[in-house]
Amino acid sequence: MSTVAFDSVAEWEAQVPLLIIGAGAAGLCAALAAREAGVDAVVIERDAIPSGSTALSAGLIPAAGTRFQRVKGIVDSPDRLAADIQRKARGEAPAALVEIVARGSAPLIEWLTERHALPFELIDNFNCPGHSAFRMHGLPTRTGREMIDRLRNAAAAKMRVPADIFAEEWRSVELLKTHDEVDQYGRRFSAKQKLMPPYFAVKVTGALFHTQGGLVIDTMGRVKRKDGSLFPNLFAAGGAAVGISGSTAAGYLSGNGLLTATVLGRLAGQSAAALVSQNSRDRSGH
Ligand SMILES: Cc1cc2nc3c(=O)[nH]c(=O)nc-3n(C[C@H](O)[C@H](O)[C@H](O)COP(=O)(O)OP(=O)(O)OC[C@H]3O[C@@H](n4cnc5c(N)ncnc54)[C@H](O)[C@@H]3O)c2cc1C
Repeated sequence: MSTVAFDSVAEWEAQVPLLIIGAGAAGLCAALAAREAGVDAVVIERDAIPSGSTALSAGLIPAAGTRFQRVKGIVDSPDRLAADIQRKARGEAPAALVEIVARGSAPLIEWLTERHALPFELIDNFNCPGHSAFRMHGLPTRTGREMIDRLRNAAAAKMRVPADIFAEEWRSVELLKTHDEVDQYGRRFSAKQKLMPPYFAVKVTGALFHTQGGLVIDTMGRVKRKDGSLFPNLFAAGGAAVGISGSTAAGYLSGNGLLTATVLGRLAGQSAAALVSQNSRDRSGH
């Protein structure tokens, strides 16, 4: 579990106008929005290559009232999206946040498409449960990153799995087959199933699908204290912030994760940038 260290006399080696923690959808949308508002942001990321939930996801974002829907004659509106979110969350989602993400969803998709060259398209051949209109938007590669290679080591390299560990795992599976034993996870491998090239490999890992709790924020992404007052310069979005799915997993409407990460990330970036600009105007007396 993480702990928060308090140090009122800390001396910082460097100061930046805006610090964004985490290069996921939320952090990067915030950075884009801040940059557009003329504020330089520094994004810090824990992993060498960002590989949080966004990288693992199918990248499908619900948006209501987009031009992509209009072209296909799909009637939809932010109110309808908000109603779907609340129906799934049994009315437990914070109404103000639901409204802001529903209203921000179409502008968000069009912003990413037009300003940042992410070629979103409307998915109109299947509907996610709970959505009353075709409104999922995805990128052409939404089928995920399949890693296919005929050679084990090449597959291992592509998966960024250390080749020697991959080869060792392979050998141990062959051994388990010979002795008809189960591995440490209780898996039994059939000797009848011969592994023949071409080989297909996937890296299996644990993932936190989405979060529902988190820091309580207002409709500008500002973090609230327990007593409801606002921190002067702390913003949150995405997995770090409170969700719109209510108190149980059953309240998660497909797309709530990236919807809040992107829309509220953008909003938090805009709000933080406005604060930075206001502070510098105050300091220069203009
Ligand atoms: C397999 C899968 C499929 C999904 N499919 C969808 C989908 O199709 N549609 C949808 O809406 N949602 C989907 N979700 C949920 C969605 O991906 C998440 O809700 C969303 O990506 C959260 O975005 P984020 O930016 O808050 O978090 P992340 O993308 O996880 O970004 C957080 C970043 O912060 C970094 N970080 C963490 N701690 C620190 C630290 N101390 N210092 C610096 N950096 C740090 C992490 O490394 C990470 O890169 C899916 C999730 C999974 C796992």
